[in-house]
Amino acid sequence: MLRHILLALSAPLALSACTTIEAAAPQAALSQGVVSAADPRAAEAGAAMLRQGGTATDAAIATMLALTVVEPQSSGIGGGGFYLRGTPEGEVVTLDGREKAPAAATPEWFLDEDGAPLPFPRAVLTGLSIGVPGNIALAAEAHDRYGKLGWEQLFQPAIALARDGWEITPRFVEFLQFAQNRAGLTDSGRALFYDAQGNPLPAGTVVRNPTLAATLEHIAAAGPEAFYNGEWAEGMAATIAEATPRDGRMTAVDIADYSAVWRQSPCGTYREYRICGMGPPSSGATTVFAVLKQLEGFDLGVLGPDSPVAWHLFAESQRLAYADREIYLADNDFLHVPVAGLMDDDYLRQRGALISANARMANVEAGTPPGARAIMGDGAEPVESGTSHFVAVDAWGTAVSYTSTIEGPFGSGHMYGGFYLNNELTDFSFVPERDGLRVANRVQGSKRPRSSMAPTLVYGPDGELVLAIGAAGGGTIPVQVAKALMGVIDFGLPVEQAIALPGLYSPGDTIAVEEDSPLLAMRADWEALGHTVTARRMPFKANAAQLVGGIWVGAADPRSEGAAATP
Ligand code: GLU
Repeated sequence: MLRHILLALSAPLALSACTTIEAAAPQAALSQGVVSAADPRAAEAGAAMLRQGGTATDAAIATMLALTVVEPQSSGIGGGGFYLRGTPEGEVVTLDGREKAPAAATPEWFLDEDGAPLPFPRAVLTGLSIGVPGNIALAAEAHDRYGKLGWEQLFQPAIALARDGWEITPRFVEFLQFAQNRAGLTDSGRALFYDAQGNPLPAGTVVRNPTLAATLEHIAAAGPEAFYNGEWAEGMAATIAEATPRDGRMTAVDIADYSAVWRQSPCGTYREYRICGMGPPSSGATTVFAVLKQLEGFDLGVLGPDSPVAWHLFAESQRLAYADREIYLADNDFLHVPVAGLMDDDYLRQRGALISANARMANVEAGTPPGARAIMGDGAEPVESGTSHFVAVDAWGTAVSYTSTIEGPFGSGHMYGGFYLNNELTDFSFVPERDGLRVANRVQGSKRPRSSMAPTLVYGPDGELVLAIGAAGGGTIPVQVAKALMGVIDFGLPVEQAIALPGLYSPGDTIAVEEDSPLLAMRADWEALGHTVTARRMPFKANAAQLVGGIWVGAADPRSEGAAATP
């Protein structure tokens, strides 16, 4: 069936309003490095930095800035992100540029006058959803430590795109239709992307964003402080506060107080591969690792990707990993997250022993990892798609794996300085208490909401850095990354094919399979094991780079418009 799966993937399938399958992006390879991103123009912005002698960090920052212009539905300087950097010698550092709640925000932030949680769409479109953006602080911090080019240089490709114009793509126009209420929420958004009648501009239109060009020029010239201080930051705080219908509104002090934080990367070993990811406030590293490690007792390589049992096992492992994630993951600066316990080999072996190849587990509950304290989980999380992952590898063989987000498509819909402001705070639990216990991921002043983003780096059995990968797609992100790693490590596929493998998402009681996926042919086998199966649109979009025969090769998801570029 693998052959069928791969053949089917090369045919154009309409998966969802926000995922268009096109021909697989061409692979690119060169020993001087590579960049892979969800938009070819953003990948090229990064490659231009490598060409000028820049590092992977320089390239990744230029890519993040260019994505603000050409993929404004997904990420940008109005949002935040997580950055991982791995050297060929094995040193991995992470930088947390996650958005923060205003200092005066309270656990009741998302409750109405009667104490009931606000409807999600109502919360998103107000200032309640907007956190202090972290991407510029992250870029500045990473650049200070690991950049080689001038700060201003990193902005040039993005400024040129915003000033001279870029063609909007079919996928972008789908987002305008799908998320019209957000993209065109303000006059600025409508003026950029809609005609006088309020219809989305057609694909192929060249759009210019002079306001964003001016913003980028300002931050390039005046430095990152210009984003977080002074009149400009006061204006941003006022825009957010004006849209916030309750006390505790964003202030210029909240913005000035923001800083990106260096954090340790949780790493674990799966079948001799060292997998390093992003820890709290992201659930990325612990969830990706648990999904894989709990399956170490099964020979997935022998089963292969055409085996219904292999995908059943993958679904079961997700159920266990997501049960733990719901209970334990939140901002580590505010409560104790048992990261080491959740990555502990013995603990995950015990969890994995609950999985059977012959039947579905009747009940799945969170376990008690070493170091755990009783807290309460969060409930279901919407599958959003306002995120972009990109990777850059430089001539020194150092890799950066960076996921950047504004949360949902076009974030909150509110704009400032020509870019969309995030709705990241809706990643908090709307409900502060459940069954008399306080929810770990409740809103608190200056806290970072829990994330699913999973920028990942992998070292091979001989210690060589071999893979940089990550994805967009809300709660599905750790599953997309785990699936690609299973494809590479267990099935022996090149990462491009591992990303292209069909996917399923099983965080709870139901297996959700990508609509029109060849995996749906396995439905009867899974139902015989006791599963409930549905077909659903999925916002899958992964990007990666892999070391193949001594050369770094970029890979992009065939479901996306992504591509790799070389210097
Ligand atoms: N805001 C989400 C997170 O941090 C990602 C949203 C998405 O990928 O659509 O987990």
